[in-house]
Amino acid sequence: MYHRRRTGRAGRRLLLQKKGYHDYTVLEANDRVGGKTYSPKLRGKSIEMGAIMGVPNYDTVKELGAAAGVPEGGPESLAHTDFRRPDGKLYRPFTGLNLWKGARLMYQLNKLDRILKSRYPGYDANGHYGTFYPDLALPLSKFFEKNGVAALTDLYAQPFTSFGYGYFEVVPAAYVLKYLDIPTAKAFVTNDLWTWEDGTQSIFEGLNKVLEHPAVLNSPVTAVVRDQDGVHVTTPAGTQTYDQLIVTTPLEQFAALADADQDERTEFAKILHNDYVTHAIMVRNLPKQSSFIPDNMTGDRLGHPMVFYVRYMGEPDQPIVTYALRNYPGKPPLSVEETRETVLADLKSWGLWVEEVLDEQSWYYFPHVSSEDYAAGWYAKVEGMQGRRRTYYAGEVMSFGDMDETTNYSRGIVDRFFG
Ligand SMILES: Cc1cc2nc3c(=O)[nH]c(=O)nc-3n(C[C@H](O)[C@H](O)[C@H](O)COP(=O)(O)OP(=O)(O)OC[C@H]3O[C@@H](n4cnc5c(N)ncnc54)[C@H](O)[C@@H]3O)c2cc1C
Repeated sequence: MYHRRRTGRAGRRLLLQKKGYHDYTVLEANDRVGGKTYSPKLRGKSIEMGAIMGVPNYDTVKELGAAAGVPEGGPESLAHTDFRRPDGKLYRPFTGLNLWKGARLMYQLNKLDRILKSRYPGYDANGHYGTFYPDLALPLSKFFEKNGVAALTDLYAQPFTSFGYGYFEVVPAAYVLKYLDIPTAKAFVTNDLWTWEDGTQSIFEGLNKVLEHPAVLNSPVTAVVRDQDGVHVTTPAGTQTYDQLIVTTPLEQFAALADADQDERTEFAKILHNDYVTHAIMVRNLPKQSSFIPDNMTGDRLGHPMVFYVRYMGEPDQPIVTYALRNYPGKPPLSVEETRETVLADLKSWGLWVEEVLDEQSWYYFPHVSSEDYAAGWYAKVEGMQGRRRTYYAGEVMSFGDMDETTNYSRGIVDRFFG
């Protein structure tokens, strides 16, 4: 996160190194690199507890993977996904009598493509600087209604809501459409999806190995003071002084531990996030393949699994990984324990007898701002603060919470400010 001349996750550091910066330090609180790319070995297999997949337009991740010697190309099970009702019964949403629904979705997707290209050019650019369209501050469901493509919410919910990014009645369209730009949305329709043999974490572990200065692990930053002499950063190992700082951790958490000024306190207090929970669970009657549960992708079904992932299709002796949200704006969040109980009860009711929970993660997920704050110019304000007091802001909230948007935004920070 922090650095002597500069700092960031492995990708960001590699980009700085390529620009000729050799004096940097990366401070990582955890005992491993990767953050939300977390691929532990469970029952001898790499299992994704965090990020899973990419699509063919993940250009920055592809470049970083090549530099790390970790190309895409892992299990192809994502191309085979079932759909289930909340009671676990399998169904087919787009075949037989429902065939017309698939045709309507493709028609509306092409219509949306035309609308975005003609009325909102640049909507898919990385980060939220450069172009600003007030319409894109609307919650996605309102934006889709306004443009006559409301049926698409069903299609977008699978790679959005079930992937932990929240609910279309509250999330500004700008975020959804930067992530699910038309090529990405089509890649999900055609299942043109990437995985990595040893998991997404292996990309960032590989990158860390090719850096001149690998991340200093077990180094949580506990205080930051900025003055005319530099940036003084405190970890359990002591205080070091640096020239500049790139913050890649949640900005509201940074404001709480740093000598934040009024602008930082005010703006970063507006950041919202989701609480997203993953469980790796050994079950009897292991399903052959993954499954979406679309009816669970609503705010009144908090805690219920929205999707489960069977990474090695048809293979025995592996956990399924379940994905559930535990918060919704204006509602008291479920606890991690309540969420676990809900997930386990659902699996049991589906006849998937739970043998053991191998891993549980509750993630700080998808930092973003509300439609109101987006419309009021949060990004213009915060982008205008870049570089003040020797500090640059990167990480998920500045673009979108996926691997490619965050690494691509970091490239932008390096290109814009570290020439
Ligand atoms: C369950 C799940 C599924 C996902 N699926 C996908 C997917 O399929 N495809 C995709 O592209 N993306 C996916 N993502 C999102 C993706 O993993 C993240 O958007 C991306 O990894 C964000 O990278 P980041 O470096 O900005 O933040 P993070 O990965 O959150 O890293 C932040 C780092 O900062 C460290 N840190 C925090 N505080 C401090 C401190 N005080 N001092 C020092 N270090 C600190 C943390 O330990 C962490 O390592 C998924 C995420 C999860 C959780």
